[in-house]
Amino acid sequence: MASVPLRVAIIGAGMGGLACAAALRQSGAEVTIYEQARAFARIGAGIQMTPNAVKALRGLGLEEQVCDIGFQASKGLNRASDDGRVTNEVELGGRIAEQCGAPLITLHRGDLHSILLSAVEPETIQRGKRLLRYDQHGDRVELTFEDGSSAEADLLVAADGVHSVVREQMLGAEAPRFTGRVAYRTTFPASLLGGLRIDERCKWWGPDRHIVIYYITRNRDEVYFVTSTPEPEFSLESWSAVGDLGALREAYRDFHPTVRGVLDACPQVHKWAVVVRDPLPRWHEGGVVLLGDACHPMTPYMAQGAASAIEDAVILSRCLARREGGLEASLQSYVATRHPRASAIQQGSAENTWMRDKTDFNWVYGYDAWQAPLA
Ligand SMILES: Cc1cc2nc3c(=O)[nH]c(=O)nc-3n(C[C@H](O)[C@H](O)[C@H](O)COP(=O)(O)OP(=O)(O)OC[C@H]3O[C@@H](n4cnc5c(N)ncnc54)[C@H](O)[C@@H]3O)c2cc1C
Repeated sequence: MASVPLRVAIIGAGMGGLACAAALRQSGAEVTIYEQARAFARIGAGIQMTPNAVKALRGLGLEEQVCDIGFQASKGLNRASDDGRVTNEVELGGRIAEQCGAPLITLHRGDLHSILLSAVEPETIQRGKRLLRYDQHGDRVELTFEDGSSAEADLLVAADGVHSVVREQMLGAEAPRFTGRVAYRTTFPASLLGGLRIDERCKWWGPDRHIVIYYITRNRDEVYFVTSTPEPEFSLESWSAVGDLGALREAYRDFHPTVRGVLDACPQVHKWAVVVRDPLPRWHEGGVVLLGDACHPMTPYMAQGAASAIEDAVILSRCLARREGGLEASLQSYVATRHPRASAIQQGSAENTWMRDKTDFNWVYGYDAWQAPLA
């Protein structure tokens, strides 16, 4: 007798939610994504897909698209902010692919989102659906949306980001902790650099702030930068806002002329509060489970937030494919597999020393979510 398909409701069509829907494609589950936004904005941001993330995308059939559109730097440089001396140089290009099983690709965040979106049937996504709360009745989870509608599922996957309402309902109201630092970030045409020569990918380390600059397109016609800048007084009410270019340039006036040249060339910038949580005690309760920033928001200093969300999606799909023990056993296996690694990365990322000097990156980049043992 054919088994009844699992009805999965995913909250959030961000990086984790889309990856989860794509990973569940083959499982026979009936998947619906509920996304609060009506349309997806292409904000000016780049993103690094490190080899572990690229391997996870490979299993979703998306590696080629990411490599076709994104940029593959030949090396990753770390420099001191004042004199530009190199503190650590990492061979990327073919070398990292040989060592870790996949390349490191930098691309526009909007392009990555579109690629993930292309892996999901359009009718899977219901837009303009902001989840207010869930209620568990035995084996069923009932969802209530802001527009007055409701829906039902066997499994609720909360991929609703750092301000997750599902996390709040499961574990209690507690705002994420503001680190006192903001990330100024933007993308702009490389032609605006004039004759300024920049490294393909470089992190410039100052005493209490840094900036990461890299190309995000294969033909190097678009540049991205992201900073970590102390601004403890930044209002969390607008955790994403237009940034003041004058203030940004002033904050980096002691940096190397190359950095100052990039900041002078950029036409506009956004700023984001960098917020975190400590590792959570629980990620699951009955038929409700957390994924991505909803359960392990981290500083962006190891470029692992989206990578971890995509890894979560792969592991969750593998755990759900193992039918023995039922849904509860699958969810326990997912949490037990993912919690230690995500917590270690949260911790490492908070330290903000990753790659500044010689760093063993294999434990992060060498991981393959499709092959890793399940707990
Ligand atoms: C400055 C900066 C730089 C970064 N750089 C990198 C990098 O280089 N590499 C990397 O891997 N990661 C990076 N990250 C981290 C990465 O962006 C996040 O970790 C990732 O987006 C998390 O994915 P997610 O799916 O969990 O959440 P999100 O991508 O935030 O998606 C959440 C989705 O849920 C929706 N939603 C929220 N609430 C509701 C609701 N109640 N009902 C319905 N829908 C809802 C939202 O609209 C959104 O679409 C960076 C982050 C920052 C801030």
